[in-house]
Formats: sequence, C-alpha cells, structure tokens
Amino acid sequence: MTPLTSFAGKRVAVFGLGASGRASAAALVAGGADVFVWDDHRPGRDQAAELGFKLKDLVMDELSGFDSLVLAPGVPLTHPSPHWIVVKARQAGVEIIGDIELFCRERAKIAPESLFVAITGTNGKSTTTALVAHLYRCFGYEAEVGGNIGTPVLALAPPAQGRVHVIECSSFQIDLAPSLDASYGVLLNVTPDHLDRHGTMENYAAIKERLVAQADHAVVCLDDEICVAIAERLRRSGKPTTFVSITDSGIPDGIVLEGTRLVRRRAGRSSPIADLAGIPSLRGRHNGQNAAAAVAALGPFGLELDKVQRGLSSFPGLPHRLEEIGRRGKVLYINDSKATNADAAEKALLSLTDIYWILGGRAKAGGIEPLRPLFPKIVKAYLVGEAAEVFAKTIGEAIPYEFCGTLDKAVDAATRDAEKSTTKMPIVLLSPACASFDQFADFEKRGDKFRELALAKIAQKA
Ligand code: ADP
Repeated sequence: MTPLTSFAGKRVAVFGLGASGRASAAALVAGGADVFVWDDHRPGRDQAAELGFKLKDLVMDELSGFDSLVLAPGVPLTHPSPHWIVVKARQAGVEIIGDIELFCRERAKIAPESLFVAITGTNGKSTTTALVAHLYRCFGYEAEVGGNIGTPVLALAPPAQGRVHVIECSSFQIDLAPSLDASYGVLLNVTPDHLDRHGTMENYAAIKERLVAQADHAVVCLDDEICVAIAERLRRSGKPTTFVSITDSGIPDGIVLEGTRLVRRRAGRSSPIADLAGIPSLRGRHNGQNAAAAVAALGPFGLELDKVQRGLSSFPGLPHRLEEIGRRGKVLYINDSKATNADAAEKALLSLTDIYWILGGRAKAGGIEPLRPLFPKIVKAYLVGEAAEVFAKTIGEAIPYEFCGTLDKAVDAATRDAEKSTTKMPIVLLSPACASFDQFADFEKRGDKFRELALAKIAQKA
C-alpha cells in the first residue's frame, strides 16, 4: 500500500467503494487523513463498514467541510450527466480527484525522481502495461503494475528509487488526475470508444492527450489520425517525444515495425532493435505496436539490444488475448476470449492462418460483417450462443459453419475437424466477436472454460 502522507490531517470524502475506492480510503487513512466513505449501493457500504471505514451519508450531509472528494472512475464526471455527488462537490467548491491523482501527489512528495510509466489508448493498454513491467524487470527493476489493470494503484508499494510503477490509465482515471506527470507517458491509439461517458470524440481524445502532454517524455504511436494530430502538437510544443509506427515506415525518427522487425530510425537511417518473429505472446501487427511502444518507454535501456530481445522473447503475455494454450498433435489451441467485438476478433484473424474459428455469444452492433474480407483465412466456423443465427446469415455461403450451441460442443467439433487437416498447424481459435453474458459471467470465465476444455483435449492422446 502507498500511505498518502501528503493528505495527513486533511478531511477527505471517498465516493464509490469498489476495489479502487477501498484502496484509496485505506491509503488515505494510513497517511493520516480523516476519511469518510459512501456509495450509492448498500453492499459497497456494508463491505466498507466491515473493513472499519467511517460511513457518512453524503446524500444528506454537507460536503463543504471537506478538502477533497475522491471519486471512483466508474462514477460519471461529465457524461451522460454529472453524478449528484459531482454536482454537490462543485457547488461546495470541493476538488474532485481520483486515485491516480492521489498517487501523483504522493510521488511528488516522497520520490519525485522514481520511474513512473503511464499507459493509455483505446486498445492494447493491458498488454503494453504488462510488457513494459516485464521489460523493466529484465533490467533489474522492481516493477509495480496496476491501475486500470488488476491492482488499484494505491494498493501497490510506494514509489521509490529502483522501483518503477507501470500504470494502465483509462480515460476516466486521467480525467480525475489533473497533475498526472509520468516519467514516460504512452499513447497507443485513439478510436471511438466510451463516447457515452465523454460526450464527443474531441473530449475523449483531449483527455488521452493530457497523459502524454504532461509526461516528462511522451511516446505516441502514429497509426491513427487523432494520434498523428496529437504528435504534431507535441512536436510543436518541444516535448521530448518518441514516435512509434506500424503503418508509416517512412517516419524519419522513432521506432518502426518493418515486417516482424522493430527498428530505430534516426534521421531516416534504420538500425535493428529486435525481431518479434516466433514470439507467441506478441503475434500480430497490433502487438507490434504494443511492443514498439513498450521499448520506447524503456528510454536509454532500449539501446541494450540483447536484453531487449531477451525481454520481448520471454514475455508470457496476458490470458485471454491470443493466449496460446498448447498443442494436441499438430492442432494448436488459442484463447482470445477478450475479443468481445469484431474489431478485436479482426486482430486475431489477421494474426493467424488455417483457423477453426469458435465465435458467438451476445452480439454487438454491426455483428461480424466487418470481418467478411478475412473469411478466406477460416477453414470452418463453429457458432455458439445467442448470436449463432445472425452470424450464420452473415457467413452465408462464404465458408462452412456448424451450429454448436455451447463451447464444449464447439471445442469437440473444431478439434475433430482440425485433426483431419492436411496443413502444418491448424488452429482452434476462440475469438468470439461477442460479449459473453448470454452464457458466462464475463470474458474471463468464458476464456477459462475454453482453456479447461482445450487442456482436457491436450491431455487425451491425439
Ligand atoms: P485494453 O487493455 O486496452 O482493452 P488489451 O491489451 O487487453 O487492451 O487488448 C484487448 C484486445 O485489443 C486484444 O485482444 C486485441 O484484439 C486488441 N488489441 C491489443 N493491442 C492492440 C493495439 N495496439 N491496437 C489495436 N488493437 C489492439
């Protein structure tokens, strides 16, 4: 935990008592603040009371005596409309901040020179965060990893020399962190997302831009229009920036993906950094972007090429994102349960060949129509869940498909067919292009089930 000594003696309200809210309250108490907590929902309040936090009915009581309101990132700050607690805090003139802001203020007080890498983007945040932490560990650092991924930032050990904090930041968290000042701020990409919570694309992009604009050193990927515009503003402002690209191999300075190789450009000349070929956890060009950005966030360590290559090659990857489970004979099983929409499933289909594709669940708007150009890569589709009928219509005559209903039947059928393949490495892929909620609590449960079924197949003799 990071005790928030910078809040000693302050009176602080914490609203929203999920994992990050509870961690904020605990860190504030440990630092000597007078902390009161509240949540709209009874179970959150009951749990906080059991943990010994002081409840205060913020609906009824005044906020004017508080120094700060710490808000959970899930509570609407601006859109679709500000939550009542936000309105109340503004009327009372109480600052509204989040847990990343608390962390930044404490770091500024106790260890301003400590390394802090903050990572954002519409896609790839978790993978890049895990990879940056892994690489820093390969360079002998103690890496604390959290934020939007896994552990709340304030539940991590405090900032210190020799320790790096690698923090995944959602746009909601950045919105609540006005003094976010990472050593390295990484922006991967910006495409439409969460517009219900940020109103417009401009607002969403401006929030993400702040993470890089306020960092000591910015890392920006130049692979979408919005990031290109942000990079141009950084360039004009004189901010030290490393540009990264997987689409524009013409950029004169930065880190570029050429085929499977990461290269460093200086004044238009290339020198090799590392080769991603054959690294199972970094399949696909999208992971090329994540890897290039991660290397950029290493700063001078990125020049130690042998160590960088070893670090990339030993990255274990994250579960449910093109996760390689194992082989039964020549058949390879890959779990991509995190692909809850067509955009994410597209990344998997682009990264693989000879695919026996398990898909379906609760369909998202647009279905799988955008994936049509990739159908030729698929040997056969196995349809599960609510979306089966609709997806079958989209597939039509393009490729063979089978209605399987549930994941266990789909794994059976796909294994049976893949084993008959005459090619070198047929792949049974779960990349559902759907939410999981029709049959599973979440995408993790769905991926865990697939892994269990695949491991059972692998354990049987082929
Ligand atoms: P996030 O934390 O931003 O949701 P993840 O690292 O968990 O991102 O990856 C989620 C999915 O997003 C992956 O399964 C993949 O389909 C896609 N993805 C990962 N990295 C990128 C990237 N750099 N660009 C586009 N899509 C990506």
